[in-house]
Amino acid sequence: MLPYSVKNLIAYFSQLPGIGQRQATRIVFALINKPEDFLEGFGEGVARLKQNLTRCGNCGRIVEKSEVHNKLCSICADPRRNKSIIAIVKNEIDLDALEETGEYAGIYFVFGGLLNALTKPSAAQERKIAFLANKTQKIAEKGGNAEVILALDTTPSGNLTALYIEKHLKHPHVKVTRLGQGLPTGGEMEYADRETLKNSLLGRR
Ligand SMILES: [Zn+2]
Repeated sequence: MLPYSVKNLIAYFSQLPGIGQRQATRIVFALINKPEDFLEGFGEGVARLKQNLTRCGNCGRIVEKSEVHNKLCSICADPRRNKSIIAIVKNEIDLDALEETGEYAGIYFVFGGLLNALTKPSAAQERKIAFLANKTQKIAEKGGNAEVILALDTTPSGNLTALYIEKHLKHPHVKVTRLGQGLPTGGEMEYADRETLKNSLLGRR
């Protein structure tokens, strides 16, 4: 019989992605062997996680509250970034992967998951597409050429999402591209290595 305090934590950990009952048990016993100050720091980090974070008002990515100025994250506020090029990513993990290639000078837009064939887009996803359409059209109206890069997984869900977004952004001055060759079909962005991502970014069409 495991003590209540252990079982309680196992129940929490096993609700996290990729962690089953067995791993959760292992994690909790590993925690028991950690010093008190580690546990305090860990617990506090978890407790304050949401309080310390917010979303950028432009790209929607999750950022530290203290790093946001005028509702913008450091990328969106950076004057060296080309605001007419917008890469649409599934989540912050994929954003990070593209950012690490060091080859991308545009800005991002975090779509927040992918669409799937069985359910309609959520209200939040519909709002995001409308926001994006509005944004790109404004760039076009000002005489600029907007480019939207669909930097999404090459899985069926990723392809479906890409097609859906593309359909809603149709405008003569909005160029919609997808990451080029190199990304394996059926692959998820986060598992692509840096070099592959870099090449697929440079080879986008
Ligand atoms: Zn931003």
